[in-house]
Parts: sequence; C-alpha cells; structure tokens
Amino acid sequence: MSEFDLINQFFKTAAVKREDVILGIGDDCALLSPPPGKILAVSTDTLVSGVHFPITTSAEDIGYKSLAVNLSDLAAMGAKPAWVSLAITLPEADQQWLKNFMQGFNELAEKFQLSLVGGDTTRGPLSITVSITGFIDNPHTMLRSNARPGDMVCVTGNIGDAAEGLTAVLNNFDINDAYQYCIKRLNRPDPRIEVGQLLSRHHVAAIDLSDGLLADLNHICQSSNVGAVIDLNKLPISKSLLDISNHQPDWGKILTSGDDYELCFACSDAVMDTIKDALLSVDMQITHIGHITDSNIIECHLEDGSVFNTDKSGFNHFADEK
Ligand code: ADP
Ligand code: MG
Repeated sequence: MSEFDLINQFFKTAAVKREDVILGIGDDCALLSPPPGKILAVSTDTLVSGVHFPITTSAEDIGYKSLAVNLSDLAAMGAKPAWVSLAITLPEADQQWLKNFMQGFNELAEKFQLSLVGGDTTRGPLSITVSITGFIDNPHTMLRSNARPGDMVCVTGNIGDAAEGLTAVLNNFDINDAYQYCIKRLNRPDPRIEVGQLLSRHHVAAIDLSDGLLADLNHICQSSNVGAVIDLNKLPISKSLLDISNHQPDWGKILTSGDDYELCFACSDAVMDTIKDALLSVDMQITHIGHITDSNIIECHLEDGSVFNTDKSGFNHFADEK
C-alpha cells in the first residue's frame, strides 16, 4: 500500500463531516471557516510509543488516547472542539493496526463532532502528533494566570487511577477488576469538555492534569504568582484505587504521576455558587481539595494538619528521572 492508499482508505473516509470544513483531506492545505466572532483555541500533543503509552497498548486505545489528551487541552481552555489534524509515523503499513487505531480515534471524533481535516503519514518509530482546534468566546476567562488568594481549588473526577494502571501494566500484575478499572483510566481518559465549556463563562484558573496534580497546579500558581494549600484527605480517590491501596493511598505517587486528564481549577466562592447547579446538570463529580494562598509554595496537609513532603515532582521529559 502506498502512503496515498493509506490516506484514502483510513483517514479521508473516516472524517466527520462539518459545514465549516470547506476543503478537507486531499489538497495541500485544509480550508476552514471559523464562525464569526469566535476565537480559535489551538493545541498540539505528541504521543511517543514507550514514553506516552506502554508498547503493549492496543492500536484502538492509542487512537483513542491520542485524541483524548488533545481534547483535554481544549477542555482546560473551555473550547468547543471543531477540527483536528493527525501526523502519524508508523514502522510499517499495517492495515489491521490502522483500522483499529482509527476505530479508537473515531469514537471520540464522533462523540465531539470533530472533523479530521488533514495530517501527514510517514514511516519510522511509532509516534502520533495531533493538532486540535476549537472555538471559544472569551479569551480571558480560563487562563492559568487567573487564580487569586482565597480561591477554592477543585478537581473533576478522581485522580491517581492512571498511575496505578501504568504500574500494573509495566509490572505484569495479575489484573483483577480494580486494576482493570485503573488501566481503562490510563488508556481511555474522558476529556472533560462539558465542564470546560461551563467554566469558560466565568473567571477561573484552569489546567488539565497531564503531569501530576502538584506539577500542574504549580503551573497555575507560577502563572498567577500565588501558592496553594491542598488537603490530602479531600483528594478524590476511586473505590478501585482505595481497594488496591488497602485504604492507605500513596500520596506521593498520586500527587506526582501523570495521565489523570482531569481538570484542576481555582475559582472564588461566588463563582462556585453561580456554577454549582450547572455542574450538577453535567453529572460530573467536582471536589474541593484546597485553596489558593498568597505564598509562593504549594503545601499539602495530612488529616492531622501536619505537612506532607514529597521529593518527587511531576513528569518531565528532560529530567534525569521522574
Ligand atoms: P503534502 O505532500 O502536500 O504534504 P501529503 O501527501 O502529505 O500532502 O498529504 C495528502 C493529503 O492527505 C493532505 O491533504 C494531508 O493533509 C492529508 N493527510 C496525510 N496524512 C494524513 C493523516 N494521517 N490524517 C489525515 N490526513 C492526512
Ligand atoms: Mg505531507
């Protein structure tokens, strides 16, 4: 199969049709028509085999995750998904692999009416780069620099599952139901698009959790020139992770491991009062885990009030170790 056969068979036919795509796959550029008055939110993420997913990950899960992590960035900016481009480097033209990859990819593309409008197909070690574009109304509302002392800090969903799933996969654990759940959270994160759009109408500071809560919250703190206090006993931990850890969560691991793809945001009590009914309507667990301070550090408190210290930081590609 030539590169062009692959493009026609797996990418061109798969694209979700949208009226704002004037010209999709097949020419030198895609031609796209943004709605008048909207601002474009654009983000790119690369997934490298063995770095962003274990080499044993199924093609379908890789397809799903490569889109999910990009959608998560749009969620953290409150954007409505519209267009995506896919640059894929493959060791070989494995048709079954590509079919499965696109099945995972399209599951999310269809869910969010996201059109694949172009990309690039090359040969080499497996790597996937997705660029995504969405629309927003207000460019100021969800910036990392928006946090203020006194704001509450909240997270969606549960954290720590994906890290435990990764441990189980890498160490060939016997996979019981609890580990199965964690592995699903690792391979198939749910981008929090609805919550993001809801938050985008208000002044919040938001980020999606890709490198671990401490590292990502630290981005908010640095950008906003503030600190934070986190109450560890308030962190939302799934029943599966509680079972696995015998109700003794490994806080260091939970705070510093990546791949949660939940949203973390800081907002005032007044904003929370305004949005809490709407949050109920999107049926998403939101947990208040701490608050923003006027210091320049993040302090984690154990239940007895003592300070929990971890010498680990979040995931960093260029650090010598995690
Ligand atoms: P060019 O040589 O002009 O860069 P290509 O031959 O790389 O064009 O691609 C031909 C068309 O197919 C372009 O419209 C490109 O956007 C699209 N395309 C290539 N690879 C992919 C892919 N993996 N997913 C979606 N579209 C792709
Ligand atoms: Mg090209």
